[in-house]
Amino acid sequence: MATKTKPAKKPAAKKPEKFRLTYSTMFSPPEEMHTKFEKALAGVRANLGRDHGMIINGQDRFVEAKFEDRSPINADWVLGTFQKGSAQDAHDAIGAAEAAWPQWSGIKWQNRVRLLRKVAANIEKRVYEIGAAMALEVGKNRLEALGDVQETADLIKYSCDSMERNDGFIKPMGIDPLVGYRSTNVSVLRPYGVWVVISPFNFPFALAGGPSGAALAAGNTVVFKPATDTPWTGRLLAECMRDAGLPDGVFNFVTGGGSTLGQALIDDPRAAGITFTGSFEVGMRIYRQFAGGSYPRPCITEMGGKNPAIVSKNADLDRAAIGIMRSAFGLQGQKCSACSRILVEAPVKDKLAAKLVELTNRLVVGDPTRREVYLGPVINASAYRDFGEFTEELSSAGKFLTGGKQLREGELGKGYFCAPTIADEVPLDHRLWKYEMFLPITMLTAVDSLDSAMRIANAVNYGLTAGFYGSRKESSWFFENIQAGVTYANRPQGATTGAWPGFQPFGGWKGSGSSGKNAGGLYYLPQYMHEQIHTLVE
Ligand code: NAP
Repeated sequence: MATKTKPAKKPAAKKPEKFRLTYSTMFSPPEEMHTKFEKALAGVRANLGRDHGMIINGQDRFVEAKFEDRSPINADWVLGTFQKGSAQDAHDAIGAAEAAWPQWSGIKWQNRVRLLRKVAANIEKRVYEIGAAMALEVGKNRLEALGDVQETADLIKYSCDSMERNDGFIKPMGIDPLVGYRSTNVSVLRPYGVWVVISPFNFPFALAGGPSGAALAAGNTVVFKPATDTPWTGRLLAECMRDAGLPDGVFNFVTGGGSTLGQALIDDPRAAGITFTGSFEVGMRIYRQFAGGSYPRPCITEMGGKNPAIVSKNADLDRAAIGIMRSAFGLQGQKCSACSRILVEAPVKDKLAAKLVELTNRLVVGDPTRREVYLGPVINASAYRDFGEFTEELSSAGKFLTGGKQLREGELGKGYFCAPTIADEVPLDHRLWKYEMFLPITMLTAVDSLDSAMRIANAVNYGLTAGFYGSRKESSWFFENIQAGVTYANRPQGATTGAWPGFQPFGGWKGSGSSGKNAGGLYYLPQYMHEQIHTLVE
């Protein structure tokens, strides 16, 4: 008898997962991302050279003194002109934020969150346009630039989620065991007042929008000053805030020099708190000065790094090489999380070095708005000069496995392009083993054991990120002993870079950060509020 076989059911087609841009997924973006970026870039390029105001109390402010914002890709490209704000503008911006604070802190936290979600939505709507402007202004490759913008929206949403998850940080406490009375206690986290946000050039959107979003969600009002190299992306953030309908004075945007307008913000006693992200030198100065007020005020300083990757003889060397290369040279080594020290066990040093050199030599350096380019220029003429001086110093102390020179051929000569550089055989007592160069230069050395690698790794003032490649057991040892706020083991997407809010909250130990609480993480938002206990006896 013939048996009937049921026709095999076709397996349901699996829905492809929607692509979500993060720093670890950016290596294989969908084609659509390129098309959209190129379209936005053409639009942005057609609109260069405009004069952009500051925004104080909801009004554009133009002043007589201006500065030009030129592209590091080609110093002939004037991207726009910006206002050289003065101490008076800083004073006015703080005044506007102070006047707006009672209303902003007094509205329901749910309403603040609603407005901030609009800000995040505005950013997402303009992600390609802002990414294109940033690529031109900072010299980021297109995916790094888009990542910075998307991360900003995610950081703001994370602060909103954090308010919601914690019911606005209004928490009932124990009821006093009183006889004859009912005494209830509630813990409430409340905002401080005017919060100053000062951002660096390298993540000009995320490190401005992230802290600002947290400060605002908490109920503070904000005065934001971007780096002089990146006023344009700063202005675009201010527009996303303004267009979301934040009341006048709640978010103020000022441009001008760090030592003039910036210093005036720090010195103003009406500043109730600050988030500074930038170099150790400037951050420590601000931290000390801010403590000189008439009472202690919160000062969150996120500073530099000298981030090591430790490679064990048991490591998967292909993974180690790609992860290290990406972290050493992504954004031209100008990430606070860049991998600037490679400590590899002696038996596998030559093998790892050969793989690293091969990968590095394949990198395309050039105009970072072009699809195939991984490394753009360094930020400005001063960083370019530093590269020349550091490579000269390193070449007399050791040797280069690759790189070591500025690139001047053809169009590259119009910008600040440097070859990705790996220095070897530089004695461990050389000062550059401890100094943050913030350029596409990484240093390699062989170590006789993992214990000596760990000693060297921890023997710096910084403690931002760190990477490890080796066995699972060794990875646990690494996590246990390394002194850093963000640590990764066996990660090909980046040895020391590539954090994302909600996944790898970002912050540093020791000289890398003052708060010990990482941005985009569980404990970040409460820093923008102080606690008040309400005890009510009935
Ligand atoms: P920077 O030179 O320290 O400047 C940072 C910001 O501080 C800029 O807006 C700058 O304004 C301002 N500033 C300078 N002097 C000031 C003063 N006296 N008062 C108030 N503000 C002042 O740093 P950068 O070169 O832009 O950025 C690179 C550094 O940032 C690196 O060290 C990097 O490691 C660090 N970073 C850390 C993190 C982190 O999360 N830990 C993230 C990114 C970057 P002007 O530009 O107008 O001078």
